[in-house]
Amino acid sequence: MKFNDSPEQATWRTEVRDFLKTADAPQMPDDGGFEELPDMKDWRQKLAKRGWIAAAWPKEYGGAGLSVTDQFIMNEEFAESRAVQMGGAGVGFLGPTLITYGNEDQKKEHLSRILAGETQWCQGYSEPGSGSDLASLQTRAIRDGDDFVINGQKIWTSGAHNSDWMFMLARTDPDAPKHRGITYLLLDMKTPGITVRPLINMANRHGFNEVFFEDVRVPAKNVVGEVNRGWYIGATTLDFERSSIGNSVGQRQILERYLEYVRAKNLMSPKVRTEFVDRWVEAGVAKLLSYQVISIQASGRVPNHEASIAKLFNSELGQRIARTAMTAFGMSGALTDPAKAPLSGRAAMTYMGSVASTIAGGTSEVQRNIVATRGLGLPRA
Ligand SMILES: Cc1cc2nc3c(=O)[nH]c(=O)nc-3n(C[C@H](O)[C@H](O)[C@H](O)COP(=O)(O)OP(=O)(O)OC[C@H]3O[C@@H](n4cnc5c(N)ncnc54)[C@H](O)[C@@H]3O)c2cc1C
Repeated sequence: MKFNDSPEQATWRTEVRDFLKTADAPQMPDDGGFEELPDMKDWRQKLAKRGWIAAAWPKEYGGAGLSVTDQFIMNEEFAESRAVQMGGAGVGFLGPTLITYGNEDQKKEHLSRILAGETQWCQGYSEPGSGSDLASLQTRAIRDGDDFVINGQKIWTSGAHNSDWMFMLARTDPDAPKHRGITYLLLDMKTPGITVRPLINMANRHGFNEVFFEDVRVPAKNVVGEVNRGWYIGATTLDFERSSIGNSVGQRQILERYLEYVRAKNLMSPKVRTEFVDRWVEAGVAKLLSYQVISIQASGRVPNHEASIAKLFNSELGQRIARTAMTAFGMSGALTDPAKAPLSGRAAMTYMGSVASTIAGGTSEVQRNIVATRGLGLPRA
């Protein structure tokens, strides 16, 4: 791993940095992006012009065709200036999956609309009782003529209330071994028979939902890949999800903001100082773990337990940073009223929002299992 940019990488970094200096970019919210962002049509257009909405996609599909390292540099610079990167599940997970496994009709129908921001996507994987053990999912899709008919329920579906389409996993062969009877489907959220019910989290935010399916008809042409082989396509989508590790820079910035506030308000004590030093060192470690994943990807290999280590460390660090802020701010840190709370209530919102980060995208326990079995070669419990 080389830590310094090559001359070409340095030029690319400067190009991104210079653009961000003058681009009037909307800023990322502090609580990890779980809150709703305002409409950003202008910003989307500015980025789209440069192919920067899906910079990792090949140029022929409207991306910038960036290498893994150049994309990481771009992510770092965006995070450093706290600029919002457009994306979401369509750009980050579904698009790359369709580029790999979709047929030409599916690519034509969906990729350009994702890039134009015309369609928002949500991920219909988890069900009550099927989260970590996703392959046990029970939502059924039964073939009927040219359609599949879907019945069942998804849960924790982020953004389903704002989404036009869902990529989902459904069971098409209940008699096959559990990984073998699952199909990957694309579903228009306006199809009759779909009910979306909000789930409000403890920070009083509406981010995820329950989604119910009652005799929902999906054309068979919306199957991605082969019927009953969807598990492997779904797993590819998850790889794209878990290797999005851009937030290690974001962590350090949140820490910096807290530090500024603590200094300005004279809240520093020996305990608080020690905590900030620990978090600062840990943020450096998080960055190095991200570099490790990137250098594996850049050499053409697929990060496995290394991505789990980075995900695990980053999400738990986010929680520790949030706790450090609460320790430093004292009783007032718990306030959420922007008029009265330190940093307009961001610390309390981040504290509550950070709880979800060790569950979303695979729990910490599951990541530790991966590190134990695939990384350390320990036997399964
Ligand atoms: C903010 C947020 C957004 C989400 N967005 C989406 C989304 O858009 N789409 C979607 O499909 N899902 C989404 N999810 C769901 C998420 O993927 C699941 O919550 C996660 O996979 C865990 O599954 P579960 O909730 O069913 O918990 P379970 O799997 O039931 O786990 C319960 C507890 O048991 C532990 N556990 C389970 N299995 C093992 C094991 N083998 N070894 C040790 N411990 C174990 C877990 O670590 C956890 O502590 C989201 C979740 C969150 C929090």
